[in-house]
Amino acid sequence: MKIIILFLIFSFIPQIHAEDIYVTSLQNLSLAQKKGITLQTVSKNQSGLVAVKMTEKQRKTFAQVMHEEKHTCGGYTFAGTEYKADLLDQSLAKIFNFADFPVFDNKEIKNQVHVNKVRSLLSADRYKNYIQNLTDFPDRAASSNNGVAASTWIMDEVTRIKESFKAENLSAFYVSNSRYPQKSVVVTLEGLSAEKPGLVLGAHMDTLKRNKPGADDDASGSAAVLEVLQAVLSSKVKLDRSIYFILYSAEEVGLVGSRSVVNHFKNNKMQVEAVMQLDMIGYQPTKSIQKMHFVTDNTNVSLNNYVKQLAKVYLNKTDAQLLDLKCGYSCSDHARWHSAGFPATFPFESSFSDHNRSIHTSRDTISLVNIDHAMQFVHLAAAFVIELGEPLN
Ligand SMILES: [Zn+2]
Repeated sequence: MKIIILFLIFSFIPQIHAEDIYVTSLQNLSLAQKKGITLQTVSKNQSGLVAVKMTEKQRKTFAQVMHEEKHTCGGYTFAGTEYKADLLDQSLAKIFNFADFPVFDNKEIKNQVHVNKVRSLLSADRYKNYIQNLTDFPDRAASSNNGVAASTWIMDEVTRIKESFKAENLSAFYVSNSRYPQKSVVVTLEGLSAEKPGLVLGAHMDTLKRNKPGADDDASGSAAVLEVLQAVLSSKVKLDRSIYFILYSAEEVGLVGSRSVVNHFKNNKMQVEAVMQLDMIGYQPTKSIQKMHFVTDNTNVSLNNYVKQLAKVYLNKTDAQLLDLKCGYSCSDHARWHSAGFPATFPFESSFSDHNRSIHTSRDTISLVNIDHAMQFVHLAAAFVIELGEPLN
């Protein structure tokens, strides 16, 4: 008898809670508002997520708007029947992986003037020279003296860049790890609103041991990070968000360097809006001509779609040239960010069936890097940091 009464009480609870709590993005909310759905916002966070109250009727209308306007299902996530103050800040990470949240849907591409200014300052010769400098080390292994020397060389180069541009808002620090002597280098270009979440553009500096030039894997990505940094500084474009240019140590030995870097960000409550990983951008088999591939696992679908839009707007890519690719495992440093709750994207040089078979060997030399192909990704990376970085001047 007791059990039956309890069952009856519980079965009425959904009717008592006429409004449930859902989490959505600010962009989705404003889209719903434009369509006449008035929702009560109970909380919002810096990353553009909002908790709203919705009746079942409103939820159905909301779903319809999302479907009609964005051609997607969902766009919101059920978060419980009552609002708890820490819903967005603490519980959220447990309920959802923020790294998967669609916060880049509906984001406008509106900074063409600034993006094109920075792009006009990108130099293929300087980029190639960076690959040459990095591949001059016999290897850049996390455990070797060469690898440590490469890390020091990168830090020295950043110091030289800072001095040559007299960049007061540029600083850099090492992040060490407990297993290998090679350290990651984190370069911060401080934005005007330091409290806003920043952006990460990253690549890994290391190779395997002994006679490994690692030109494509991943001097091609590392050189891109340094090249974009220089172009941004020489453009004098002022950004509202901070940009973190990161060269990770010890990727090849199990994403060891990026684990420490991501932990450093978390421990110091350094907020990140979006992460782009560049790992192998210079190899171009015939089938990949003019194509870019986007890794679909451990990345954010909404961010991937946004970056594909950037490729369409700035590089004149068509849908047929922007393809998806599944790694099937944590194939680069983006996976560390993703699992820590940060949205990541990872554009890649080719399909897997057509991948560069010279990587991890002595044959991965600069002669196999197609600079034109690589520069497409350098331009995409520049568009990523400037569009999302919120230029002001
Ligand atoms: Zn790699």
